[in-house]
Amino acid sequence: MRWQTSFLIVVAIVCCFDLRAQSSAPVSRHTENIVLITLDGVRWQEVFAGADSILLFDQSYYQDTAGARKQFWAPTPEERRNRLMPFFWNTMARQGQLYGNRLKGSRMNVSNLYWFSYPGYNEILSGYADERINSNDKKNNPNTTVLEFLNKQPALQGKVAVFSSWDVIEAAVNEERSGIYANSALEAIQPARTATDSLLNAMVSNVRSDFAGVRPDVLTYYAAWNHLRQHQPRVLFLSFDETDDLAHAGRYADHLRMLQTLDRLIGDLWQTLQSMPQYKDKTSFLITTDHGRGHTPKARWKDHGTKTPDSYQIWLAALGPDTPPSGEQSGGEVIFQHQVAATLARLLGYTFTCEHPVGAPIPTVSPFSGR
Ligand SMILES: [Zn+2]
Repeated sequence: MRWQTSFLIVVAIVCCFDLRAQSSAPVSRHTENIVLITLDGVRWQEVFAGADSILLFDQSYYQDTAGARKQFWAPTPEERRNRLMPFFWNTMARQGQLYGNRLKGSRMNVSNLYWFSYPGYNEILSGYADERINSNDKKNNPNTTVLEFLNKQPALQGKVAVFSSWDVIEAAVNEERSGIYANSALEAIQPARTATDSLLNAMVSNVRSDFAGVRPDVLTYYAAWNHLRQHQPRVLFLSFDETDDLAHAGRYADHLRMLQTLDRLIGDLWQTLQSMPQYKDKTSFLITTDHGRGHTPKARWKDHGTKTPDSYQIWLAALGPDTPPSGEQSGGEVIFQHQVAATLARLLGYTFTCEHPVGAPIPTVSPFSGR
């Protein structure tokens, strides 16, 4: 009898815990949609301290230094970063999290050996730094990405979309194998069903692009925006490019202007989604970069890669209903680019596993465990 009673008590307690575990997941986790955004070759130095005087006042980078000073300079890093990225600092920093300000001891690194674009995008998307991805050649990614993994989940099938300014991104997500809808570079929207589709196609075919084969980021944004309104994807990867091209071209003020524009577009996207019932309070943003760049003109600011010291240093911003609003991070353990993929999956309630090892989710970004 005593044995039976205690057995029943144990069963009751176990049931209780089990019920709590089952019911706590949907109650506490709100993310149903994810937007991953990458800003190519944007340094943590600009994100956290705004315009850099060493580059801004260098006439070899921009002739009108007086005009650039007027537009981007202010005495403190806080004022400068607010001026450069007002959405990041007024909304993301207050309601979300920002990692990578090394001046405050928050560090994020790429773990691949190369410190340039395709190895970085592979690491972000597959959660795995793969030595075989060692060039920017447009070769289909052999690794399963988190986007492909999510697209295989019954609830998300056909609801994953990719819009990128650079055409190599469609290889990085392996559009052919994964079956994910990827619209890259100068590719038209097909079939063009609406007047807006046709207008976007006309703009893409007639636009003067500064960089061969690259769609201007503003057009990539509106193509994605149009897709979002029509198809309401659950997972969207938005990959911008021009900031890196402008830096390679040594155009520092234009690089800052592009970054300011992207900050505005990200803010516009956030506001747009908050006005749509499917997305309002159910959408998380993760924003990061593929690599950093050098510190000064002499230390190869225009460039990145292993010959450019410290260009492995990157940053991450997160915003959404499941990310505690702890703002700008200071100190803490170093986090890595290969952790983004599993973090993204975990925000949606999944544990990302596939044929290769995957970096662990960042627990502070996504405190709820996957299923
Ligand atoms: Zn580059």
